[in-house]
Amino acid sequence: MNSATRSGYGICQLLISTSPHFHIYTFPHLHISTSSHLHIYLFPHFHIFPSTHFHIYPLTTFAPPQITTVCNMKLHNKVDKRVLKERIEKSEEPRTTISFYKYARIGNPQVFRDHLYLHWEKLDVFGRVHIATEGINAQISVPTSNLDQFKSDLDEIVFLRGVRLNFAVEDDGKSFYKLKLKVRDKILADGLNDTSFDVSNKGQHLTAKEWNSMMENGDVILVDMRNHYESEVGHFQGAMTPDVDTFRGSLNVIDELLEEYKDKNIMMYCTGGIRCEKASAWYKHRGYKNVYQLDGGIIKYAHEVQDQNLDVKYRGKNFVFDDRLGERISNEVIAHCHQCGAPCDEHTNCLNVGCNLLFIQCESCKKKMQNTCSDECKEIIQLPEEEQRARRAGIKPGRKVFKKGRSEKLAFMKPSAD
Ligand SMILES: [Zn+2]
Ligand SMILES: [Zn+2]
Repeated sequence: MNSATRSGYGICQLLISTSPHFHIYTFPHLHISTSSHLHIYLFPHFHIFPSTHFHIYPLTTFAPPQITTVCNMKLHNKVDKRVLKERIEKSEEPRTTISFYKYARIGNPQVFRDHLYLHWEKLDVFGRVHIATEGINAQISVPTSNLDQFKSDLDEIVFLRGVRLNFAVEDDGKSFYKLKLKVRDKILADGLNDTSFDVSNKGQHLTAKEWNSMMENGDVILVDMRNHYESEVGHFQGAMTPDVDTFRGSLNVIDELLEEYKDKNIMMYCTGGIRCEKASAWYKHRGYKNVYQLDGGIIKYAHEVQDQNLDVKYRGKNFVFDDRLGERISNEVIAHCHQCGAPCDEHTNCLNVGCNLLFIQCESCKKKMQNTCSDECKEIIQLPEEEQRARRAGIKPGRKVFKKGRSEKLAFMKPSAD
């Protein structure tokens, strides 16, 4: 057993290595006291940062820890967004866009988050990652030259060994421009009390081939588990596309829609599978007997139909939560410009930062409206930057990129469902 005492916050961190492959740190903001028991994972290169006092309990049979201090370790990216965006746009380095998720019990998400940050930053990984006690959900881009290293790093983390990586369908590598790892209550906000049902009792997974033949056999209910702005630009033929803004909000709405089909074969799908993983278990708990889910979601389906030369039963685009906003699965354009009604499935965010509305805008409206959603926003972007900022002051943040894009200012958009 080893103990160490440190005071102060922030910049200095203590690194204890118990073997060439085991590093342990502790965090200032964990407020670990002498009496606390540390939750320690058996990850190689594990990080915990020092608090005022802490004890490390024997973890392994390795030789006594060596203690070193590492200063100024950077755990967040502080460079201006515009600089980073410009950097990625000019960069010619090939990058690969990947997403993955894993439901797993993570005792201390903050520690795990910092562990990932330290390792992924070195590999120049960009993207958006959520970590919670229920698991991890990651949408990232990795320099293609570091991909092998990235994968072998993942394999060193016990619960991520062999995790399925979903590779983007249409990928120019410009999906993300910085690395953002966030600790959240859940990796998927669902509003459910998971202790009341068995999350692992999920629906049966189907490959693209099985999915297609089940659709062909008919007498099935297809449910799109995504939000209205996602299914608007693309969905499976004949699917129910609930008019919902969030996954959390969708569960009850879908329950009502499906009520009369309780004994039918329910086929559900989402982008990469994470939503169905939970929803299928929930609906089974709610009494639906035959629940199926598309394994790996639309992303994996698109790869499989291409590789195996199968019929594409998905129409339009697959909405994605990165700067690309969508990848084309079939050539059909099933949506309309929200300003003029012309066929279009290009999502954009209103250029007025204070609005940032996500909506569909065709090229000619984009030109005419200067990439804004309304005359009001168009006027605002003409103002000097300082005045724009002053106008935004006091407005609650939260009108962020994926604020659900419903606006009465748009002539061709559905009004809010609520
Ligand atoms: Zn238009
Ligand atoms: Zn706007």
